[in-house]
Amino acid sequence: MSQLQELYQEVVLEHTRRPRNFRKLEGATHSARGYNPFCGDNVTLLLKVEGGVVKDVGFQGSGCAISTSSASMMTEGIKGKTVEEAQKLFTAFHGMVTREQGADFDAELLGDLEILSGVSEFPTRVKCATLAWHALQAALTGRMDAVSTE
Ligand code: ZN
Repeated sequence: MSQLQELYQEVVLEHTRRPRNFRKLEGATHSARGYNPFCGDNVTLLLKVEGGVVKDVGFQGSGCAISTSSASMMTEGIKGKTVEEAQKLFTAFHGMVTREQGADFDAELLGDLEILSGVSEFPTRVKCATLAWHALQAALTGRMDAVSTE
């Protein structure tokens, strides 16, 4: 196993065992639900946005290790960031796992999230990894209806 694979497993397992910000957030200003029918993952994302800054974030739901760890890492990544920065992070992450042509793949911006780049080789897992991110995008753009990765 390569070092990156080992690190990947370690980080994914750690976030699955102890997901960060896994709680019902009181006083949320934005929320969205996401569902991935291919795997059965579901996530409810709650955000508290004040003055254009993501002051707090929480998520709930159940899913596989990839969806849970990606959601957990995402909440850490966007907390305290401006809405604009959170959206940039979405674009960078989405570009990384889907390997979009000409995508804004900013490794520095992604930080620890780069560990999940390996899922780009498994198209079905990409839906797991991006589920919480699509919910984030839906929450930030104010679409209250549930999103599906389909
Ligand atoms: Zn999944």
